[in-house]
Amino acid sequence: MWRATILTLYPELFPGPLGASILGRGAAEGAWALDTVNIRDFSDNKYGSVDDTPAGGGAGLVMRADIMAAAIDSAPRNDRPVLCLSPRGAPLTQAKAHALSKGPGLIALCGRFEGLDERIFAARNIEEVSIGDFVLAGGEIAAMALIEACVRLIPGVLGSASSLGEESFEGGLLEYPQYTRPREFEGREIPDVLLSGDHKRIAEWRRKKAEEITRTRRPDLWERFLKDGPIRRGNNKEPER
Ligand code: SAH
Repeated sequence: MWRATILTLYPELFPGPLGASILGRGAAEGAWALDTVNIRDFSDNKYGSVDDTPAGGGAGLVMRADIMAAAIDSAPRNDRPVLCLSPRGAPLTQAKAHALSKGPGLIALCGRFEGLDERIFAARNIEEVSIGDFVLAGGEIAAMALIEACVRLIPGVLGSASSLGEESFEGGLLEYPQYTRPREFEGREIPDVLLSGDHKRIAEWRRKKAEEITRTRRPDLWERFLKDGPIRRGNNKEPER
């Protein structure tokens, strides 16, 4: 079973949103599981502290490598990668979520304060992952985002596999606009083509809109799409992006 182990100073934040809706149901049905390790349990002092002042001076506190190592080593590894949520990490992508969802799970390390003593990354072969170019107060929400992106791709969790295929990023394009009843909302109509029943024309319209939206909103994705073509996901072949 796919398993996430979260190393955090705030285990009470989990499962939080990961326990709701389709992810919660998936966990109840045994498709995936989550457990937490409280980093504070590995403190070596009566105050329960896990951090110390930065070498070289400056503001803030740094999480100690020895305490982080003890916390990491307490979690069964089972071939799972150890990821640290960090604004310095490689940006999380849909391709990364696919790759992780096909593996045995992950161990996620949530930073707080100024982050972690640099030596832990090499000492435990830790990969740093970022959820975007902004700074959060801690890694917990980032870990939830990472895990949610992975778990919804585990077969059976989302129900209909076909709804995955056409989503944003899946073919290298953002998703086309969606509509539902009522047919008219405050004077705005659903585009006629979507009510035509002509599946070929609908598919063409959606494709055109997906390209238009990608080109105007995300020129970076559009350039890559033009260069590399649509992303094709074979059974085990994961594109490197
Ligand atoms: N001083 C650090 C930021 C520390 S923020 C720096 O400038 O790089 C505290 C913790 O929040 C980090 O250790 C990390 O675990 C988490 N965090 C903050 N922003 C994040 C982001 N964009 N993606 C993933 N984790 C993030």
